[in-house]
Amino acid sequence: MIDRYLADHVLPMDAAFSLHSPGFVDVSDGWVAAAGPRSQAPPLGPGDAVHSVGGLLLPGLVNCHAHSAMTVLRGAGEGLPLDRWLGEVIWPREARLTPGDARLGMLVGAAEMLQGGITTSVEMYFHAAAVAEAAVAAGLRTLVFPAVAETPGWERFGTAADMIRGAVALRESLAGEDLVEVGLGPHSAYTLGDAALREVAETAFALAMPVHLHVAETRTEGDAVAARTGKTVPAHLEDLGCLVPRTLAAHCVWLTDEDITRFAAHGVGVAHCPGSNGKLASGLAPVVALRRAGVAVGVGTDGPASNDNLDLWEEARLALLYARLREGDAGALGVEDAFRLMTSGAAAALGRDDIGALLPGRRADMVRVSLGDVVYDPVLEPRDLLGHLVWAGSRRDVTDVWVGGRRVVEAGACRTVDVDRARAALRAAAGRLAG
Ligand SMILES: [Zn+2]
Repeated sequence: MIDRYLADHVLPMDAAFSLHSPGFVDVSDGWVAAAGPRSQAPPLGPGDAVHSVGGLLLPGLVNCHAHSAMTVLRGAGEGLPLDRWLGEVIWPREARLTPGDARLGMLVGAAEMLQGGITTSVEMYFHAAAVAEAAVAAGLRTLVFPAVAETPGWERFGTAADMIRGAVALRESLAGEDLVEVGLGPHSAYTLGDAALREVAETAFALAMPVHLHVAETRTEGDAVAARTGKTVPAHLEDLGCLVPRTLAAHCVWLTDEDITRFAAHGVGVAHCPGSNGKLASGLAPVVALRRAGVAVGVGTDGPASNDNLDLWEEARLALLYARLREGDAGALGVEDAFRLMTSGAAAALGRDDIGALLPGRRADMVRVSLGDVVYDPVLEPRDLLGHLVWAGSRRDVTDVWVGGRRVVEAGACRTVDVDRARAALRAAAGRLAG
């Protein structure tokens, strides 16, 4: 049976960056069966259904780096640089954070993301089983990376080997869950020793698991690694075997030209987090050089305590602004790049060819945007709408969201999460965690 969605505009995110005005998307059993201009829609059978939704349909957005359970810590440590923010504010609170808090934080984060058009999120956090459970309850697609770290305080989760074993066990327990893929989340080279990183690499290789970690986020992050090994963080990770084809590296602000070449050679994907990098004054990532070298790049919000929202539209706009400032070039990144960074490019960075586009064989993760706001005029030709959406639109223009063909947001409201109830519980938890 086909569900046919008719819209004023369909942006499938194909190679040609086509915009079909008007267009259609056919969905069958959670997958896209066809999409294109309305005039080319194939005939329907007697059991098929037609939904006239108007507006603009585009693929669900892919958030390439998040710790969404940190909604429970939103706003904490405002004004501090990364090292003090982590050491003085975040880690002490996280030491008190229970699996129930993580579940709650993720539930609220999932609602926020879905309402803003994000249908897939990359989640690195501890209490990962609780995070995955909440995401599934919300109907959000996730790549869950249970965190592995050897920093003071993390002994409560056992050794790094215990954490790796835990991630493998979680992967096995969720093997039948279509919405979740479990990988390995070694926090970073500065919070893990060589032996642990090597074990992550060996496990990832043996089980074909994706790897997600923070790389070169701040200027000083690699100093200890450089002093010890004489290498940059990416070179050190390469030596330990941690640059596998499904390695997704977050931030990547302070890379050398050789590091960029290294990422391209190994097929590493990059999660670019301009909002977080700006808020913590980490720096401007070399996005243009990465993409020119052939590295797949998507945008990520990072956690809602270092952003402080889960708004990928804002992230894409910041990516354009920062790239133009960094390069001194108003053409450094454009409107098409913004959509690539949120959808198809992001899916490529994750090594996932089943999401990120409304094309046959991809999952029916789909977003409807209303184009009724005053900022969507004037329109001299339909493509003007895409520029208006990137530069002047907002997550509040997202009205409806489908994940795997299931409508999870309708008329702006999240159907899967009791948001009011979750928010009340979140407030109570945040007070307790602040101590
Ligand atoms: Zn992060």
